[in-house]
Amino acid sequence: MNLDRIRAAVREKLDSGDLPPEKCLITWFGPGSGQLCVVCERVIAAADIECECEHPRGGLMRFHQACFAAWDEARQDMAPA
Ligand SMILES: [Zn+2]
Repeated sequence: MNLDRIRAAVREKLDSGDLPPEKCLITWFGPGSGQLCVVCERVIAAADIECECEHPRGGLMRFHQACFAAWDEARQDMAPA
């Protein structure tokens, strides 16, 4: 999955409300645990860096490192100035 596709998926999910615009309360980075990434919906393999986010709306979201970075960037673009 290249960065353009990741960014497109992030925008789509922010627009549709599948991804929230608020930032995480806490984030952890570690090796993948075989869970699905909330952005690209692919497995985060043990060889990948997984980012876990505890979100203010509740629940834990899991991202590939690149998917998390794309979301974090797009989220800040959407925030009111
Ligand atoms: Zn991903």
